[in-house]
Amino acid sequence: MNRKQLKFCLLGAVFLFAGCTALDPTNYLESSADTLFQIKPDQSHAALERQSGTDQYLKLLLNVAEDAEVKEVQVKPGLVSKDTTMLSMPLTDGRTVSFKLSRSDNIASGMVGWVGDMPSNRRQLYPSPAEINMDPLNWVSLVSDGKLVVGDIRVEGQLYRLTAVGKGQQVLVKVDESKIPPEAAPIPVPVQPRDNARLLTTPSSSKSAIKVLFVTTQQSRALYPNYKLELAQALLNANQYLVNSKVEALYEQAGIYDSDYDETGKEPQTQLNDMTADKPLGAKIHIEREKVRADLVSMLSTYSIYCGIAKMPARKETAFSSISCFGALGHELGHNMGAMHSDESPDQGVFPYAHGYKHTAPNFHTQMRTSHGAIPYHSNPRLQYQGVPIGTVDKNDVARTFNERRDVVANFYPEPTYPVRLWLSGANGSCYIDVRPGEQVLLSWYSECKDNAVDPERVVVKDFSSDSTPRRLCFSNILYTVNSCYAGRRFYGDFVIEDVHSGKGKPDEIEFTKLQVGQVFRVSYR
Ligand SMILES: [Zn+2]
Repeated sequence: MNRKQLKFCLLGAVFLFAGCTALDPTNYLESSADTLFQIKPDQSHAALERQSGTDQYLKLLLNVAEDAEVKEVQVKPGLVSKDTTMLSMPLTDGRTVSFKLSRSDNIASGMVGWVGDMPSNRRQLYPSPAEINMDPLNWVSLVSDGKLVVGDIRVEGQLYRLTAVGKGQQVLVKVDESKIPPEAAPIPVPVQPRDNARLLTTPSSSKSAIKVLFVTTQQSRALYPNYKLELAQALLNANQYLVNSKVEALYEQAGIYDSDYDETGKEPQTQLNDMTADKPLGAKIHIEREKVRADLVSMLSTYSIYCGIAKMPARKETAFSSISCFGALGHELGHNMGAMHSDESPDQGVFPYAHGYKHTAPNFHTQMRTSHGAIPYHSNPRLQYQGVPIGTVDKNDVARTFNERRDVVANFYPEPTYPVRLWLSGANGSCYIDVRPGEQVLLSWYSECKDNAVDPERVVVKDFSSDSTPRRLCFSNILYTVNSCYAGRRFYGDFVIEDVHSGKGKPDEIEFTKLQVGQVFRVSYR
């Protein structure tokens, strides 16, 4: 336990004995917490209004803000780190709130995520093991690239958006979610009987990694100056909903493809259809998707009548969605996974229980109903909020749908199992071997290597493949005191190693490590 954590525990104990008011988390104001940002004093709203004449994103934010409440803030990006256990921040109304870290990870290359909620005594009041972990009305999700921070701050259900506009100015927006356009009805994908059988199989893996390729358009890159950061934060949210809802899957960003697609005059559904492989945009997406083996593809667009649209449930060739609001990503990917909005609408899906859930007293709805004002959960009758189930067995169990479908979607591009092929050359001669994933072999097993007494220096590597789990190709002696390794994560293809024990010639994406230099007897690929 570090000093900060200790301090928090001690303060927590003081609060408990002092007897905080039930379910009033703002009483847990944490004086020792670091302050993520300050609202700049003496700022002029008229100046922001003027700036919005040329800054389209700022204009959009002013339009969705409650009472045009947009404030410039000064942010400390370094605090978005797994080492920060408590973060506090001021709101536009003068209150300051504090959040306790629940999860921090590297959501994309060079970007750190931080998710937390407000400590409260809800779990003591509702001791059932089914009671949800994260406070659904008071939580925060942030991503930083070291320079800027974007994120969502929810306090008593009210959304505040921390983001950056044109010139990297950071702003805090009190969002009026009723001003945000709705999500479009999903586009049903015909499901063949063959697929139906596949849909109902039990997942074979304990956890599924679902890779998502983002596509941007000419217009979306122009509108959203920090779209990479915003997309990473949208994915962080989508993952938090899965974690919270006990879905054994996580989305992983496979890449971002900046396309030359021009949205001018194209409706959301036209744009979604343009992503399929028989269209010019779709053909280009297909190449990028094959390269990074992305199970799902989501395009960031700028249409304003909807927040997003998706195909449902996705098959490999229809695994597309499009968003124009970052907050709708988890919802639209959820359609690809097979979930629907409401059981009141005509049933068009495959699963009778795959609907979002709405409850009154306590008042809440889950993500698939609509992402606007939703709690960070998918419907799940096995979980409770204040003692109330957040789903029903018959109609509202999106968590079950996702758990049943996760392996199907994650295997649109399965983890490759084919062997790596190696041409080994040394001073005495050359030989050819292939090694399957998970195997380690002795060179003496191969007569060609044995007869030529090959001690490899130069190696031609073909069909190296690694998905999200890093794969290591190692050249070792019997005791592993010699162990020169080449590790790749999400790398598919060929390369040449000019010198086994120095890493010379390897691609930048491949990481090289070594112990001693000496004769090679073993090769492993795991
Ligand atoms: Zn929807």
